[in-house]
Amino acid sequence: MKKRIKELTKIINNANHEYYILEKPTMSDQQYDEYVRELEKLEEEHPEYIQKNSPLKQINVSLNTPFSKVEHMMPMLSLSNVFSYQQLLEFHQRIKKTIAKPEYVCELKIDGLAVSLIYEDGLLKQGVTRGDGFLGEDITNNVLAIKAIPNHLQKKANITVRGEIFMSKEAFENLNNTRQKNNEALFANPRNAASGSVRQLDANVTASRQLDCYIYQGVNQAENSHYERLKALQKLGLKVNPHFSLMSDIDEIFAFIEKWEQGRKNLAYEIDGVVIKIDNVENQKLLGQTAKSPKWAIAYKFPALEEVTQIKDIIFTVGRTGQVTPNAVLDPVHIDGSLVSRTTLHNEKNVLEKDIRIGDYVFVRKAGDVIPEVVKVVTEKRKTSNKKFKMTDNCPICKKKLQKEASAAAYFCVNEKCEAREQESLVHFVSRNAMNIEGLGEKIIEIFYNESFLKSIKDIYLLKNYRHKIISLIGFGEKRIDNILANIEKSKKNNLDKLLFALGIKHVGAKTAKILAQEIKSLEYFESISYDELININEIGDKIAQSVIAYFQKAETQALIAFFKKEQVNIQYYEKGLQEKQFYDKTFVITGTFENYNRLQIAEILENKGARVTNTVTKKTSVLLCGKNPGSKLNKAKELQIPIWDETDFQNNLNI
Ligand SMILES: [Zn+2]
Repeated sequence: MKKRIKELTKIINNANHEYYILEKPTMSDQQYDEYVRELEKLEEEHPEYIQKNSPLKQINVSLNTPFSKVEHMMPMLSLSNVFSYQQLLEFHQRIKKTIAKPEYVCELKIDGLAVSLIYEDGLLKQGVTRGDGFLGEDITNNVLAIKAIPNHLQKKANITVRGEIFMSKEAFENLNNTRQKNNEALFANPRNAASGSVRQLDANVTASRQLDCYIYQGVNQAENSHYERLKALQKLGLKVNPHFSLMSDIDEIFAFIEKWEQGRKNLAYEIDGVVIKIDNVENQKLLGQTAKSPKWAIAYKFPALEEVTQIKDIIFTVGRTGQVTPNAVLDPVHIDGSLVSRTTLHNEKNVLEKDIRIGDYVFVRKAGDVIPEVVKVVTEKRKTSNKKFKMTDNCPICKKKLQKEASAAAYFCVNEKCEAREQESLVHFVSRNAMNIEGLGEKIIEIFYNESFLKSIKDIYLLKNYRHKIISLIGFGEKRIDNILANIEKSKKNNLDKLLFALGIKHVGAKTAKILAQEIKSLEYFESISYDELININEIGDKIAQSVIAYFQKAETQALIAFFKKEQVNIQYYEKGLQEKQFYDKTFVITGTFENYNRLQIAEILENKGARVTNTVTKKTSVLLCGKNPGSKLNKAKELQIPIWDETDFQNNLNI
């Protein structure tokens, strides 16, 4: 019996190591559960045989007393920070005064909370927070509840290690979602969530929070290289972040920083910088430390993704569907490298749930291309005079009374002649995922709208009539307006799904537009389509069907379709697959130079459509593609009566 308990202990510990530390499980969940149940039963029947490193201890932790203070054997210093390459370079130059050829280890700086872990005979004895660096709090029971921290090592070592406890982005979102459902206060970021989860009196709560931990240092290791020490920690069964690297060249370090500043959005967890440490431990000792931080290491901090700032005002804007959205006007603040002064608050529900008020201080978060977001109010800084938010009753532009859509908790201006809606419809029509008319941006649309050159979608295709006025009245360069007009012409060839999405029919997003275009094939057929036909299309529900019917029944829409036909705006859906193989049986020869492409690009485009591209004109050549200053190939083609295309023919034939 004792033998079986020993055996099971080993099997489950190994499985835990594979699953939580290496993140490469080899045992099925079912098999794992069976072993755990068997061990549970045996341990209950024979408590005298329970192994010191029993994996079940980790799960059944008891309630502990408030965290007692513990003194760190070695102070847990914090690193000094630098915020620019210049400052990092200065650090490097300081080092070089003592060490001629320094070697560094670069590691990711995990955004969590530091912990010190003491293992005796390979068993986890104690976990302590950083505290003030000298005195921390005993969080042993909580640490035992974190699966990524093994309660025993692969060897019977006596070692003190330091690491960072953190929560993954996914676990953080799940946690906040659950808390929102339960009407509990949300955590502002994963770091706060991790910190709150570790300092729980009931370690079972800690256990439920999906915390993770990376170890980055051993206090009393034998190896003389930090790089080797990290590898030794891995061998002991501790979880070390895999992205560490040894380098001696400062440019390599800059490249490492750049790589992760870009790459951090793709990581499953948050990092706030890169840590650079001297590799040689003797050299570390030589460099020493100040009262606060070691002189042999430094943290390069990325620009913050989150800042606290004040809400100066809440204003309302009108979208193309007429939806009225509250926006926060912020005391401008630098976040993630850009100045943020305004951000959407999405809708009334969001503002009320987060209880955002004018005058409040809030956490604002931005990462990469993501739109800045108000995460949470700093309630401690709220003044009692800050009034609760109230949604506006009227359109901020045309002043008409708003209608509330019960299901979506959204408010709409239903005035179709509302200027804000008209302008937004145009902006939407030309946007990248819609008709993709480059050069015709929001600002220019506003100018053209105010000059009455552009009032509706039709006007976009009639803009050419104002070319002269635009040049003389608004001072547009010829090149600029001609570029816009060319892009407008080009957009006429777009596939139907783009046009359908561009029309801005309520509830018809890009994906729905594609489904509808594929099924219905031509804009003309929409005029006579029935509700039943629509609802029978996969993924088209009642809301969309009703909205589509209503849109195409309008006389205005029908006039617009007639207009498109007259102006030769494509209203048919063409299959991509067929189009790609358009030239599967054609042979092209290219000669001369082209305005918009070089010959290699043209060849590539043709080949992607299934064509063969050769160098010599023969009887078998299907088309000669002829640019400016053609060679003798043109005469040869004329002689053999082979069709000749210029650049425009090429673009027209290929719908580009
Ligand atoms: Zn309005």
